[in-house]
Amino acid sequence: MNIAVVNENRGFERRVALVPAVVSTLVKQGWSVTIEQGAGLGAAISDQAFAEAGATIGINKAEILGSADVLVKVSPITPAELDCLRSGQIVIGFLNPLGNPQTIGQLNDRGVTAFSMEMIPRTSRAQSMDALSSQASIAGYKAVLLAADALPRYFPMLTTAAGTIPPAKVLVMGAGVAGLQAIATARRLGATVEAYDIRPAVKEEVQSLGAKFIDVTLKEETVAAGGYAKEISQDAQEYARQVLTKHVHDADVVITTAQVPGRKAPVLVTEAMILGMKPGSVIVDLAADQGGNCEGSQPGQTIECHGVKILGPVNLPSTVATHASQLYSKNVSNLLKLMVKEATIVLDFSDDIISGACLCHDREIRNQRVKDALAQLQVQV
Ligand code: NAD
Repeated sequence: MNIAVVNENRGFERRVALVPAVVSTLVKQGWSVTIEQGAGLGAAISDQAFAEAGATIGINKAEILGSADVLVKVSPITPAELDCLRSGQIVIGFLNPLGNPQTIGQLNDRGVTAFSMEMIPRTSRAQSMDALSSQASIAGYKAVLLAADALPRYFPMLTTAAGTIPPAKVLVMGAGVAGLQAIATARRLGATVEAYDIRPAVKEEVQSLGAKFIDVTLKEETVAAGGYAKEISQDAQEYARQVLTKHVHDADVVITTAQVPGRKAPVLVTEAMILGMKPGSVIVDLAADQGGNCEGSQPGQTIECHGVKILGPVNLPSTVATHASQLYSKNVSNLLKLMVKEATIVLDFSDDIISGACLCHDREIRNQRVKDALAQLQVQV
């Protein structure tokens, strides 16, 4: 069985889907692994390191894709890659199935089996495969570093002969995976941190990281099945904004990471709230490419609004490409382990991880949300 990894270095993407340590384990398990030339360079991994781990270095992308039993990717399938895929192959990656259901339809038409790393259930058993979490944690860390870089002030408290500098005040909105890592990173840099989330259950985690939790009592249910956040009403959102306005005004840095799976990002910071912030303050909106938690934020850009810098970084995990690739590679190899029985691929659809992550198999779209999205597209045509 052959696993292929292609070179995905373009635009913001610097990650590679497998790293040499994981390649070496897969080779020992009996897989042959082909890596496209230069695939690891964005993550500071040489072709030689892959070759020493037992991989074959391929040069012709079409041949690499054509001979793969399993294609492992980080980012979605490109049209050129799609053209080279054939029936019976398996594709695994961040395939953006709800953002780009057409490509999943095309993979299905070709008889390709597709697994989406976005659809790995967020359960205890699936934790070692949860690539959204491994990558979001990096985004939370890097968001704080970007904020510290853009802020014309120190983060830590400093007592010097020239006077005392108070610590920066950081407000983190949304305390999921990215938010908790942002809190921990800001604390390590010496800031005082406040955090807010609509799920009361995260209060203890926030406090255990040394941050103050802002209690906003909403008069409606905020948690859905599985412990995920629910989309809250406009009235509740407005009430939360009223309570949070003072905290936003006091903050030197605001990091927003709020999301409800499958929905547009909620607006937590309005222009009116920004107006009350100190000039030179910084907002980092991690949800900028999903509609934004902060009014005015632009994906991939830094804008200035009433003297406040608003950053809307995209694909932050790629800026820490070596470790992002290492963690992603481990997530993928743990998923692969579930698919292999006695050196052959056996897809057990009674397994909730396999069935949850599989988008299409045997020319059937297996994910209801992708099915609905494709039906919606047909109605529009
Ligand atoms: P997560 O689901 O673990 O956390 C999101 C948190 O937002 C949850 O704790 C949820 O309760 C909270 N939330 C939902 N609605 C809220 C509201 N109205 N007010 C306050 N809190 C609310 O998600 P995550 O994996 O931490 O990702 C967070 C965000 O970061 C997502 O938008 C994700 O796409 C983004 N992200 C961005 C990058 C990047 O490079 N820009 C990289 C990774 C993740």
